[in-house]
Amino acid sequence: MVEPLVVDGSIGEGGGQILRMAVSAAALLSRPVRVVNIRAKRDPPGLRPQHMVAVKGVADLTRGRVEGLSVGSTEIVFYPSTPKSGRFVIDAGTAGSTTLMLQSLLPVASFATGPVEMELRGGTNNPMAPPVEYLNWVLMPVLREMGVKAEIELVRRGFYPRGGGLVRARVEPVRMLRPIDVGTGRVVRAKVFAYSCNLPEHIVERMARRASEGLKRLNVPEVAVETEALHSPHAKCSSDPGTGVIIVLELDNGLAMGFDSLGERGVPAERVADRAIEQCARQLRAGAPVDSHLGDQLVIWVALANGRSTYRVTELTGHTETAVFIAERIIGARFDVESLGDRGARITCDGIGFSR
Ligand code: ATP
Repeated sequence: MVEPLVVDGSIGEGGGQILRMAVSAAALLSRPVRVVNIRAKRDPPGLRPQHMVAVKGVADLTRGRVEGLSVGSTEIVFYPSTPKSGRFVIDAGTAGSTTLMLQSLLPVASFATGPVEMELRGGTNNPMAPPVEYLNWVLMPVLREMGVKAEIELVRRGFYPRGGGLVRARVEPVRMLRPIDVGTGRVVRAKVFAYSCNLPEHIVERMARRASEGLKRLNVPEVAVETEALHSPHAKCSSDPGTGVIIVLELDNGLAMGFDSLGERGVPAERVADRAIEQCARQLRAGAPVDSHLGDQLVIWVALANGRSTYRVTELTGHTETAVFIAERIIGARFDVESLGDRGARITCDGIGFSR
């Protein structure tokens, strides 16, 4: 049997991302992996339920076996096997983020032997994770350009603490991914979407108004505003109250950037919108066509693509550097990261042209 490749979970960000990405990359390459020092830079360190569920999901998809999968564990060994097609239910049991689960599952499902349907249960709009809207409006447009065939549907929202959200993802297999070239992109229009569950309607209206005023100040040309205030027993409404806003800047290259902010008890709706506008303003100042979150989320995909990809990102985050490290170590892609000072960074990757 091949010796597991050792990945140190304490490098770079030292959070859950290294684990999710290591397991996903190992599943793709059918290479066993041992992840040590899991979440060494988080308090408490080790596995939390939401990380376990992502690893378990990848293991299910690939008929894999995992050792050390328990809460608090700082080391796991994952032995992947053949990726399955079919229907899978992956349940965080808590408000664990469904979108972070998808981060590890989507690449694996895209290279399965046939169509994969996943029903993910947990949180759909969590702090420190992309909201489902971000996946649909920002990540998926660029992945489609690369050839990914996936549909992600938000069936029911889930907020902290109980979660209970439901996301369905249908993924068709691809043979090989195309590289991307995203060096420039002019903003042509913007969308503001403010949503809430079981809260008074004036909250989404105030958030949406504040965000569209902010976009006007930033001279964004055309702004479409949408609000969604749901109440139980609406089928899409979460059991716990929650709210948030996402601003999407659509570019003339067909791609988009996204800036989102979640509501918090005691924080006025206007302040929630201002947080998203501040990120947006930073992005526009840097003039890069890829936002800082997309910057790290694209790394695994460009590493797998067939040929040279390049993109310019606002900011070189710890998450991006960590993702690059894992993609080089496990996938074997070559990256060149060039800092452009105030104008962000350019990431170039020679992808391995992965195919099953
Ligand atoms: P840990 O629990 O160890 O902190 P984690 O698994 O919860 O780790 P991170 O390792 O911090 O999460 O990874 C978070 C991921 O979510 C990154 O890919 C990041 O780009 C993405 N992300 C975080 N916040 C947002 C956001 N507001 N919009 C879009 N993407 C986001």
